[in-house]
Amino acid sequence: MTDFTMEKGADGVAVITWDTPGKSMNVMTMEAWPQFEALIDDALADDAVKGIVITSGKEGSFAGGMDLKAIARMKESAGDDPARGLFEGLMRTHAILRKIERAGMDDKNRGGKPIAAALPGTALGIGLEIPLACHRIFAADNPRAKIGLPEIMVGIFPGMGGTTRLVRKMGAMAAAPLLLEGKLNDPKKAKSAGVVDEVVPADELLDKAREWVLSEPQIVKPWDEKRYKMPGGAPYHPAGFMTFVGASAMVNVRTQGAFPAAKALLSAVYEGAMVPFDTALKIEARWFTNVLMNPSSSAMIRSLFINKEALEKGANRPDEPDQKVRKMGVLGAGMMGAGITLVSAQAGIEVVLIDQNQDAADRGKAYTAGYMDKGIKRGKATEEKKAQVLGRITATTDYAALNGCDLIVEAVFEDPKVKAEVTKAALAQVGDDCIFATNTSTLPITELAKASDKPDQFIGIHFFSPVEKMLLVEIIKGRETGPRAVAKALDFVRQIRKTPIVVNDARFFYANRCIIPYINEGLRMVAEGVAPALIDNAARQLGFPVGPLQLVDETSIELGARIARATKAAMGADYPDEAVDEVIFWMEGQGRLGRKAGAGFYDYDEKGKRQGYWPGLADHFPRAAEQPPLAQVQDRLMFAQVLEAVRALEDGVLEDIREGDVGAILGWGFAPWSGGPFSWLDIIGPDEAARRCDALASAFGPRFTAPELLRDMAQSGETFYARFTEQAAA
Ligand code: NAD
Repeated sequence: MTDFTMEKGADGVAVITWDTPGKSMNVMTMEAWPQFEALIDDALADDAVKGIVITSGKEGSFAGGMDLKAIARMKESAGDDPARGLFEGLMRTHAILRKIERAGMDDKNRGGKPIAAALPGTALGIGLEIPLACHRIFAADNPRAKIGLPEIMVGIFPGMGGTTRLVRKMGAMAAAPLLLEGKLNDPKKAKSAGVVDEVVPADELLDKAREWVLSEPQIVKPWDEKRYKMPGGAPYHPAGFMTFVGASAMVNVRTQGAFPAAKALLSAVYEGAMVPFDTALKIEARWFTNVLMNPSSSAMIRSLFINKEALEKGANRPDEPDQKVRKMGVLGAGMMGAGITLVSAQAGIEVVLIDQNQDAADRGKAYTAGYMDKGIKRGKATEEKKAQVLGRITATTDYAALNGCDLIVEAVFEDPKVKAEVTKAALAQVGDDCIFATNTSTLPITELAKASDKPDQFIGIHFFSPVEKMLLVEIIKGRETGPRAVAKALDFVRQIRKTPIVVNDARFFYANRCIIPYINEGLRMVAEGVAPALIDNAARQLGFPVGPLQLVDETSIELGARIARATKAAMGADYPDEAVDEVIFWMEGQGRLGRKAGAGFYDYDEKGKRQGYWPGLADHFPRAAEQPPLAQVQDRLMFAQVLEAVRALEDGVLEDIREGDVGAILGWGFAPWSGGPFSWLDIIGPDEAARRCDALASAFGPRFTAPELLRDMAQSGETFYARFTEQAAA
């Protein structure tokens, strides 16, 4: 079975069809490149062939991109001198695409055969880089299709000519959102943006492309003409200069310099814009090699693509029959209950939403209506769709309506007594098979399960707020939770298209267990007189979306104080966070309860917009005359989290480091460039990590003492991915 086939028509048009065997969408593999090249060579050499159309055998799509698993392994397979091997491999790809682009022309641009790309639909990554090398791109008018270069989302950039060609075709300014944000467009928008040349009815796609090929068109690319000027101006042109200064500033604001791929992409564009096309390709290949050599790219691909997908497909699902949810109950129609109802009803599940009184239940349902209305305004939903989704939701106070539910998710107040009452009331109404889940964020699942006489059918399904936005769901097994409950929770999470991790029951489970020390380390620094801006910016420059002080303002200082009190009550004399309490309780006492209250570590305007740090903080916690170095602040913030992740693994709360990494990035935005806490430790190396722990522990206390496991690995020289998964660390 081959990936590419060619049919030469009597009219002189050779149609090359891409059809990756056994895949629903084409992906380019190392093995497929030579097949593709051989067909191009054949068609170009055959005098009977007047031109070529490249298309796909898959309905509704051209190609999904390069095989990312192959990209993640490229470095290992590149030989003893991997940078050279990678660079040479990329230059071979450039040569194939350049062969298409030159199509047999001589150096005076004479001769050559027109080559059209005919895209039945989605064309991503290399699936657009190949068309960009063709002379004209036809796209079928398929509004569901997505066209673009999303590489930056997984820590690489379009490094097979896409960067250089797109910038030369549209100019740096217009290409910026497509390259730097990985923005995808439907065919019509792709045409108005200038990415594709023509949008045609799907059933005329091949005819139109064929017609164009036979029309003896002009095929020399603008950049192969003598007087080519880049649209919008190259860097030394006044307008171009402004673009590049602006783009550089924008990239730095957005990424804080923490994402190597964005910087490399910008460098490839800037340097490439000042030299002839073939040299620009070489520069692109150098920067792409640089990105592939950086462990960040393989770590990001591993966590954000390969392992995320594996978890979504049920990598840790017990072997149980299908547990798809048909009818569910949601108890508590507050912030979380309303969000859980929304995403479930959207996924086609019938939902019974229960609260203490009808008004509260109706308010919960109204949240879905409001959300759908916003979607309609933005052209993403229709009245019909809204009616359909709302039709699946019954808002009531009557527990009898739960009859027939196969899953209940409880999201009432965080109070064990209230939770036990509603659990009993709900279980009295449902069949023996029903799985009961609680969305508690702090209460032990094993304790809550006592309200049920079937603790094997009791589980934690912990959502993050806002439910409709957050991609992660943490599934928590209580001591007696059985495999069917786990399978049910996983099948449910799959239905609502989120990413699951499965962990064991312990205080704060996994995500909150790691986030709290991050916030606490920031609060400790406030007490020590470290400037708040240094604390938050140190985190942002590590790639965290928000610093610890901003985060606690967002999640509420009141909640932080409540958690601190509960933890202290539970831990008694072992409680280690007095220094943190000094700050959080004082803030609470000052009425600075966070963004919702309009006052926290930041001041806010009436609209809730941050206005800068609250000056009153420095009056109470005076700034230290000498501020610590940035690297030390960053190490404290980073190790506070990663050591907790290692302890969670040591304690058996985490069973799979892939979940620890994916969960950290999706759950609390842990520096995505690193691939997650375990990938980060692998990147710096466990021995270096242990050394830095020793330094931190002697300066700041035993919370930084290296866990036994890390120490052990430092000695053996192993990495987490080598020790805990079959995939060796990339
Ligand atoms: P909320 O106060 O917004 O909503 C709770 C709802 O439960 C209210 O509508 C209340 O009327 C209802 N309720 C209370 N007692 C009830 C009873 N006896 N019968 C029926 N309904 C009752 O709270 P929330 O933020 O939605 O949190 C709910 C649960 O989710 C808590 O366990 C919380 O710890 C957990 N959680 C919250 C977040 C978050 O960010 N807010 C995140 C994850 C988990």
